[in-house]
Amino acid sequence: MKGTRTPRTPITTFRGRWTRDHWATASLIGCVGVLVAAIVPGFSAAPPAAEPEQVTRAIALPLPPRSVLPIEEDPIAEEAPVDTWRTVQIAQGQTLGGVFSDLGLSANTLHRLLQHPGAREALTRVRAGDEFAFDVPEPGELRALRFARGENEHVELVLEDGGIKENVTERELERRTLVASGEITSSLYAAAARAGVSNAIVNTMANVFSYDIDFGQDLREGDHFSVIYEEVWRDGERLRTGDIVAASFTNRGKRYTAVRFERDGKSEYFSADGRPLKKSFMRMPVEFARISSTFGARRHPILGKMRMHNGVDYAAPTGTPIMAAGDGRIAFAGNRGGYGRTVIVDHGNGHTTLYAHMSRLGRYKTGQRVSQGAVIGYVGMSGLATGPHLHYEFRVNGQHRDPTTVTMPPPEPLKGAAMAQFRAVAGPALAQLEMLEGRHLAAREASTSLN
Ligand SMILES: [Zn+2]
Repeated sequence: MKGTRTPRTPITTFRGRWTRDHWATASLIGCVGVLVAAIVPGFSAAPPAAEPEQVTRAIALPLPPRSVLPIEEDPIAEEAPVDTWRTVQIAQGQTLGGVFSDLGLSANTLHRLLQHPGAREALTRVRAGDEFAFDVPEPGELRALRFARGENEHVELVLEDGGIKENVTERELERRTLVASGEITSSLYAAAARAGVSNAIVNTMANVFSYDIDFGQDLREGDHFSVIYEEVWRDGERLRTGDIVAASFTNRGKRYTAVRFERDGKSEYFSADGRPLKKSFMRMPVEFARISSTFGARRHPILGKMRMHNGVDYAAPTGTPIMAAGDGRIAFAGNRGGYGRTVIVDHGNGHTTLYAHMSRLGRYKTGQRVSQGAVIGYVGMSGLATGPHLHYEFRVNGQHRDPTTVTMPPPEPLKGAAMAQFRAVAGPALAQLEMLEGRHLAAREASTSLN
């Protein structure tokens, strides 16, 4: 979800069903109306995200005129050496190979640089606007090359004695903390944008709470949230949105909280009582979907007889990705009679899930491990099906259960030292969230009493 541009979906009502649009982006962004957005004092004047400037002009790459090159016989030239550096900004469609050729540098030199560990990616994936500086003391001779690597390193590669020496300068990244509160109303997409809550933050929040809140169907007017998040700045410029530090979301009067905490070197989100928010199973193994047939006895749409419907049907367009609902191992991937193209995932502890009527299977084969969210196939209507949908079954020790209501033991909370560490991190974050919510509710109160 990250890094993609979210389509601006015209939103008129939040109670409508979302059959075609991406639930986690379109519906939430469309529905979120930010009434109050407080920005941490000192950053209220922060400029909006700057779009990187498009560099489309052709770059002239003149070689230094002969006359400015140092002349051996002139002693003054030795004391004050001329600048032999040439800075090049990559133009649209230009490659570094092209720049080398324009500068009269050999392809062999570039090839040598590409062999240097850690240089290949930065030198082959160049984009318009990237800057490279070349130290060219003599025509055709490259002495050093400077470029940015990743978002926080300046690298200088010096070609000497047939080898390459690397000098790295760290660029300082600054993480700024911002806060915002918002409330769901009918159509205040523009208000959300004006309040400065980026799509990336809204999407992350939807992901964080997706195990507890169905953002496609559960949102109601008056639902509200508060979020503490980071922005990454470099050299006085906003580079990108960072992580969510903590957030609270009140859905139909029930309040959910999430606090970021690092466990085994990985950032995860935990509830206030230290339990991971990520559950063993996803609420829905397919996005863009709505339930078209529930679990239980029904008249079969093709056979016409009353029979048990052992799963839940999610109507979705053909080709919509189907995800493994939880971590596990592929127990079956292939054709299975009326089920059509089917995948069965064994999650251990007697839990299995089944996904039927696929238009095609994913890349996982029987016996392979899959992670929660991995795409194991695509919605279709193979086998006995009247239209494209996912037929989804959940079994516990061989018994069919209703996947929408089956209850799982809650994930284990943090223990011992980890729990103590978590409390130290979570305490201030939760207090700040409560303060934000208090402020938001007070502002709401004030605005209703005005009417
Ligand atoms: Zn079904």
